[in-house]
Amino acid sequence: MIDINTLFPKTAVSLVKEHLTPALFNALKGKQTKNDYSLEQAIRSGIRNPDSSIGIYAGDAESYQLFSKIFIPVIEAYHGCPTNRIHRSDLTKASLSDSDLSCGHIQSFRIRVARNIANLPFPPLIDSATRVKVEEQAVNALLELKGDLGGSYHALGELTDAKRKNLAQKHLLFETGDRFMEAAGINRDWPESRGIFVSKDEKFAVWINEEDHLRIISMDKGGDIAGTYDRLARALTFLEKRLKFAHDPNLGYLTSCPSNLGTGMRAGVHLRLPNFLTQQELLHGTAKEYNLQIRGSHGEKTEVLDGIVDISNRQRLGITEKQCIETLHRGVCAIIKKTG
Ligand code: ADP
Ligand code: MG
Repeated sequence: MIDINTLFPKTAVSLVKEHLTPALFNALKGKQTKNDYSLEQAIRSGIRNPDSSIGIYAGDAESYQLFSKIFIPVIEAYHGCPTNRIHRSDLTKASLSDSDLSCGHIQSFRIRVARNIANLPFPPLIDSATRVKVEEQAVNALLELKGDLGGSYHALGELTDAKRKNLAQKHLLFETGDRFMEAAGINRDWPESRGIFVSKDEKFAVWINEEDHLRIISMDKGGDIAGTYDRLARALTFLEKRLKFAHDPNLGYLTSCPSNLGTGMRAGVHLRLPNFLTQQELLHGTAKEYNLQIRGSHGEKTEVLDGIVDISNRQRLGITEKQCIETLHRGVCAIIKKTG
């Protein structure tokens, strides 16, 4: 029987390494989804990157069924909830005691949800022709948006340097994925069919063919949580009518990385902590207490620059959209109080 320690580097800390027993590996290693996605492909990123926290990606909706024996324990460990319950969505108004977090140190607020179009392979497995199909369907729907959500589409391969710089400064640009996405196969054929839809006021954006088919983003300078959430809810209600998203009754919206299942939602603030270096313990302790995640100024696995930290909800499954926002709000209020 295979020794899991020879498959993963000794130093690997991922949830997949923790839960993939030799017996499970042997039982699953010969299986392939109808789109030809195997366990070996699913765990490649976790094998190549010892510092992966999850270490397994789904190539299509069927991956979650066929490899459920490994996905389920990873999902339950990450989200901290059972997977045998019906996942509920609730995009109604969040109840926030003080919805405006516009205190001096909040730089911006951003909510994104991850979505994939039903019956098409996800980015770790997708081919060029299907990527074109995703781009066409998504852009056609997005160009129908009106009012404050209306905007234009920019293919990544056709961006001028000036536009690229402008989008990057506003945290609206995505670039070739990091080594985790590289090993998962998500960067293949870069930058084909990748692009960004941006509303005229630049408060609403959609990334196409990044880690998921769509990353739907609402953001604003300062801490107007209610307004940012309302914008996202309106966009989602519209897009749900135009596109059919991959969804499972128990797992919610299906995503490439199991950490995004459920709501697919990560709601977060960029908060400036002038005393970041001396307050790390306090920050991480409070984040843990409120089930929040801390990232760097330019996203996952990046450095904290100028004391700007990205604080967001960690759990996305077993919780509604409304609860994601409320969790974030409660936690950020606590962090501001403790570090202020
Ligand atoms: P995700 O995968 O959830 O979309 P990443 O960690 O990959 O998020 O970061 C994506 C981009 O979003 C990065 O450029 C990051 O700086 C930006 N970003 C994240 N949170 C905020 C925020 N609250 N305000 C502004 N930009 C943000
Ligand atoms: Mg990301």
